[in-house]
Amino acid sequence: MNIVITGGAGFVGSNLARSLTERPEITQIRVIDNLSTGSKENLLGLEVRFFEGDIQNAALLDQAFHGADAIVHLAALPSVPRSVRDPLASHHANATGTLQVLEAARRASNLHVIAASSSSVYGANPCLPKHEDLAAAPMSPYAVTKLATEAYLGAYHHSYGLPVLPFRFFNVYGPGQRPDHAYAAVIPKWISAVLAGQPVTVHGDGTQTRDFTYVGTVCSILADALLRRVVEPQPVNLAFGVRLSLLDLIPAIEVATGLRAQREHTVSRVGDVPHSQADDTRLRALFPTVKPVPMHEGISATVDWLGAGG
Ligand code: NAD
Repeated sequence: MNIVITGGAGFVGSNLARSLTERPEITQIRVIDNLSTGSKENLLGLEVRFFEGDIQNAALLDQAFHGADAIVHLAALPSVPRSVRDPLASHHANATGTLQVLEAARRASNLHVIAASSSSVYGANPCLPKHEDLAAAPMSPYAVTKLATEAYLGAYHHSYGLPVLPFRFFNVYGPGQRPDHAYAAVIPKWISAVLAGQPVTVHGDGTQTRDFTYVGTVCSILADALLRRVVEPQPVNLAFGVRLSLLDLIPAIEVATGLRAQREHTVSRVGDVPHSQADDTRLRALFPTVKPVPMHEGISATVDWLGAGG
């Protein structure tokens, strides 16, 4: 199988590229990435064909998709606060970019398209756990772009018969996730702070909850979806109902690092959802053999990676 990963130089994409190289059924991996948040270093040592450029470039997509069997579409500007600062940039990359990917998949022959949406689409909807039939209530421009992503996949399935699978990722974490940029995710940021003897910064009171999913688990589901060509036009939560508050994350990091964490509180972030927890019924029906990596193992692997210099 010949697989294209858009955004393959990023955190999830490079982990996926690495895990697909271990699958004998995958004969070629191609990556399209404009290196806006990702880096070629993430792919060092991997045998991938790299197409540097933007997913809004239709000619580049045609070149990269030629002869491919499936696309895992991960390219996006992934941050809520970034989208609050610059909604148009997020819209162009995430919504228009997805439309371009789907058009190119349609021009190529019947490509299987798996894409990353986000739990942020549930937004202000207070129901827990989040099952996919709940009304979406985006609280940020980013969430709107992800709602557009999954809605376009569904529409291309119904309008053109494109075989699609939109996943709603929750909070993915693990080795390869950078701690050191303005929009860094909480787990790498806090582990790095604890390792450096600095306080962790909690936005709000820290009681907000998240459903953290280890990147290795995400990649094994993506690989299984590719190899079995799983098609489902409705969005599928990719998380397992773990509901951990940010305050509970701190002792988990202390155990994995063997260090005490100091904390400081600051203002809540605009666009952040208060609670997040997936209903995994649809996921488990499609992937009945999946075994998620437990949180303590995932945190330990992340501490090892960051402790070794990242
Ligand atoms: P990331 O920023 O590490 O990776 C995104 C990659 O896309 C980067 O390599 C970036 O350079 C590339 N990219 C961005 N815009 C592009 C464009 N216009 N053309 C080509 N390449 C472009 O982010 P990630 O954490 O690996 O996220 C992967 C996907 O999963 C994203 O679609 C994100 O929205 C989604 N997601 C992630 C999480 C999470 O917790 N990490 C949660 C929900 C959804």
